Amino acid sequence: MYKSILVPIDIAHLAEGKLTIDLAVAHASDDTRIVLLNVVEEIPGWASVAIPTEIIQKSTTDAQDALKAVANACGRKMDMIVRTGRSYSTILDVAQEVESDLIIIASHRPGLQDYFLGSTAAKVVRHAPCSVLVVR
Ligand code: ADP
Repeated sequence: MYKSILVPIDIAHLAEGKLTIDLAVAHASDDTRIVLLNVVEEIPGWASVAIPTEIIQKSTTDAQDALKAVANACGRKMDMIVRTGRSYSTILDVAQEVESDLIIIASHRPGLQDYFLGSTAAKVVRHAPCSVLVVR
């Protein structure tokens, strides 16, 4: 069984996120750590000067609330991490930090089925240090 499963969630697409969390639960034993991760896209330095800090802070709080809501709906203990950065590289960094042996990621935003893999999913599959389950 897996020791640490990382589930990156794009909070703009929570229905897909819920599906990936259900799969994580199905692949987990009682001892498995499940970590939900949302990456709040980094705002370039020049732009962040013009954006009030409350708005940047609110993105993080919204992400934490959204992760809490989906995790509570699953009825199992999960850890939640919200980070600022670029999504794929932050997913890979956190996978190393929490020593993931499985990443479960959705392949795409809905409506983009013509492509094989979305950009984030493709980069994670290419560079992940562990197994990756891509959900379609
Ligand atoms: P698309 O190109 O359609 O956006 P992506 O490959 O970017 O597809 O996204 C696919 C999956 O990658 C999402 O369902 C989610 O699992 C993960 N992901 C994308 N963006 C983020 C983010 N900001 N934070 C956490 N996970 C993300």
